[in-house]
Amino acid sequence: MTRDRRSDKLSVCVQVGGSGVLKRLGKSSILVTDIANQYWCERQMELNYLYGKKYTKFMARGKQLHEALQDEVYVPLTIEPVSYEDFMYKTAYENYRSLLSLKQKGICRELRVYGSINGYRISGQIDEMKMVDGKVRVIERKTTEASRKLTEVYSRPHKMQVMTYRMLLGDIKAKKYTHANFARIYGLTDEGLSDVFKRELQAMGIKDELINPYMMSKKMFDEFDTLPELSDRLEIAYVDRFSGKQISSIEIEYKEDEMTDRVSHILGFWNGERESAPVVEEENWKCKFCKFYGSECKVWWTGK
Ligand code: SF4
Repeated sequence: MTRDRRSDKLSVCVQVGGSGVLKRLGKSSILVTDIANQYWCERQMELNYLYGKKYTKFMARGKQLHEALQDEVYVPLTIEPVSYEDFMYKTAYENYRSLLSLKQKGICRELRVYGSINGYRISGQIDEMKMVDGKVRVIERKTTEASRKLTEVYSRPHKMQVMTYRMLLGDIKAKKYTHANFARIYGLTDEGLSDVFKRELQAMGIKDELINPYMMSKKMFDEFDTLPELSDRLEIAYVDRFSGKQISSIEIEYKEDEMTDRVSHILGFWNGERESAPVVEEENWKCKFCKFYGSECKVWWTGK
């Protein structure tokens, strides 16, 4: 299946019921991590939206490690956003600085990426991009226990996550998703910054013509558009949850056709064409670690 055929087929599907699923889950867009989680247990991903996610101490530790790594590369804009436009400006500015860092130092971290899959708004945050052999490589970092076996089942959602980032970047480079799309979808104009935020930007010495959400997001897209060639080698780096040291890494090959088929599958759920899929029988050991087991989900519940 080619990418264009996917677009034709799936844009029809969006019209028959796509937005209903997002609405039911209280969402306005799909996150790249939602897509990744569909490859662990799609039912669990859905239930998390319906019944709430728990912020665990492991998630907090993962966030800490990510922030420490980001600080190694550049200092984020410390001004607090007040308005929606302030927030979008801050994100665009940080992304712009990150992309400059990739071009100048060969590495950037914590980069937000945006796109659209058949009318659905998609966004995510890439952990790291690095220049390898003259090409941009996308790297996803995962915190885990050093003793964990990196099986295919365990790494499957991580692979989907990094492949989705690569697809979104490819769409931007190929001008399938442009600054005009982004500004329209996110409602960005040259207005909306709060006075306090503007004053802080002026104090930082940012030129007046760039103190405007539309222009800053344009600058971010100029940097996206001029990225060097994207590598088809993608990497997942596993980092020890306690020491923060890398313990292993997996390299995978990005194949557009394979991605097209996977996207077609995940959209079946978002389009409302099928129910969320629980795990298959061979993987029902995952249920023992799921907070919905025996309560909101009894697919594999044995009553014990
Ligand atoms: S109990 Fe099992 S099938 Fe049900 S949501 Fe949890 S992991 Fe998925």
